[in-house]
Amino acid sequence: MRLHRLFWLVCLLLAVTVLVLSAHIVALEWERADRATRGLEAIERLRHMLVAAEMASRERGPSNGLMGDITPGGDAVRLARLDEARARTDAAFSTLQQALDASGHRRDDVSAAVREAARDLSAGRGEISRIALQPRSERRADDIKAAIGRMFQVIEDLSPGLMHLMNEAQAAYPRASDALSGARLAAELREQAGRLGSQFTVALTARQPLRDSERTEIERLRGRVEQLRQLLVQRTAAAPERTAVHGATQRMLVRYFGSAMPFVEALTVRGRSDGEYDIDAAGFAARYVPDMDAIIELRDVLLEQALTEARVGAAEARTALVWISGGGLAALGLLGLTLWVVHHRVVRPLEETTELIVAIACGDLERTVPVPRHRDEVADVLKAIGVLRENSVARRALEDERQRLVEQLRDQSNTDFLTGLPNRRGFFTLAERHLPNLQRHGYPVAIALFDIDHFKQVNDSWGHAVGDVVLGEVARCCQQHSRRGDVIARYGGEEFILLMPHCDLASATAQAERLRVAIESTVMQAGDAGGLKVTASFGVAECLLEDDTLDPVIARADACLYRAKREGRNRVVAQDGA
Ligand code: GH3
Ligand code: MG
Ligand code: MG
Repeated sequence: MRLHRLFWLVCLLLAVTVLVLSAHIVALEWERADRATRGLEAIERLRHMLVAAEMASRERGPSNGLMGDITPGGDAVRLARLDEARARTDAAFSTLQQALDASGHRRDDVSAAVREAARDLSAGRGEISRIALQPRSERRADDIKAAIGRMFQVIEDLSPGLMHLMNEAQAAYPRASDALSGARLAAELREQAGRLGSQFTVALTARQPLRDSERTEIERLRGRVEQLRQLLVQRTAAAPERTAVHGATQRMLVRYFGSAMPFVEALTVRGRSDGEYDIDAAGFAARYVPDMDAIIELRDVLLEQALTEARVGAAEARTALVWISGGGLAALGLLGLTLWVVHHRVVRPLEETTELIVAIACGDLERTVPVPRHRDEVADVLKAIGVLRENSVARRALEDERQRLVEQLRDQSNTDFLTGLPNRRGFFTLAERHLPNLQRHGYPVAIALFDIDHFKQVNDSWGHAVGDVVLGEVARCCQQHSRRGDVIARYGGEEFILLMPHCDLASATAQAERLRVAIESTVMQAGDAGGLKVTASFGVAECLLEDDTLDPVIARADACLYRAKREGRNRVVAQDGA
């Protein structure tokens, strides 16, 4: 796989991996933050529920007071107190319902429980008002008990909803679990303490001893209250001194268990005897109810602790979400930057330098080496490529020069420097190039061998320099009068050879005769010799079918030349005397 493809594949895999991992982690943190926020809301809803139950419970105090009032319909002060208590309960129920509506609890068990409680509350209030309108002597103990029972039922109705919200809050925010169950225990204690107080309403109203059923219920409720006290103390024992929870627990122990409880015990003792109480129902409520507020204070402190923990947790979760999201984005950005740097500083330069090296290796030395953009390893590679290219250019120049010299040397070795004609080697090289082709097509080929007559005398008379000039002039004359395609060469000394392609013996003899006449009639200006003339003798032979090489033809032409010399020179003698 090519490097750039591999690079983009790795980029893709890395990007997908980092994206999926980041998205997964962010989703987890988002879920955590969302759960923490929902936990906070769940605790708020639980608080509204506890407050609603508390207010319904508190309403029993003035209700009982009204039923124990000697004035039918109740006196104005007690009525105002009851109206106030009922308004507080209604407000608490309304707040609870709004919180439930906002959270989507409109149609579930919690809302059903609240509606059921509201119905019983309304029914209980009706009964209480009806009893209060009766003269005191007509108020029946069972009716009062039933009305009180109906008010108790309001709390019972809320119980499943309370459990539901409690579970929801604890599940959403387990860290606040201890504080929440402590708050629920406190609420339960407040309820049971309230019920304990309510047991005295009938006896105090009717000014009669406690009935057996009431005594039994009082004992049961005292047992339950004591049990709840122990559970609460256990639950709050871990709270360090000078904390709100510790302080609230101590105040509850002092006020309710240290003051209200002994008062209840004394009243119980009195209720077992003659039924002559030094206090009426309203007076009892005024003495007993305020001490129960210490329990509510502990409940609120525990709820506040749970809320604080939940708020801290939610804030932590949101902070973690921000950091993790930022970290994920930063990781993605860093990855992108790294890949960009790797691509721009490594992959792309590597591709470019590879292409450059391949081009130079293939002989494309015209390519220019780019100027490095950075002072890095790539710059070193480009520098090295530049050196390699220069070396290659220099080597190619040397090779060209060598080739030129070789060709020059070959030309020189095939050329006679004096006349500029091919020498004997050059003649054979040229002739052997032509001959096979001519023979294959059956074309006639002839050879003329000629020698300057009495040349020794020229040398002897005028010197070698003049002899050299004469040789050059004869060569020039022959070139001038040769046909195109003929090959003329200096065969050796003052001897020349002429190859005549497409020429039979007769034509060759005629051509030789033309050359002979041309030499004879050429006046040569050679130094002191002035107008010098020379002649030459010619031997002509034709190439026969059986001649594989030129040697036998030349031999026959040489024999004719010999004859021409012998017969008086300055003549042409052809093979077979033609
Ligand atoms: P013939 O008519 O029988 O050919 O007589 P000739 O004098 O031409 O022949 P010979 O063989 O006796 O002499 C040839 C002379 O040519 C001898 C030699 O010095 C001369 N010669 C050969 N090559 C050169 C050359 O390159 N330059 C000069 N100046 N003389 C040369
Ligand atoms: Mg000779
Ligand atoms: Mg000669």
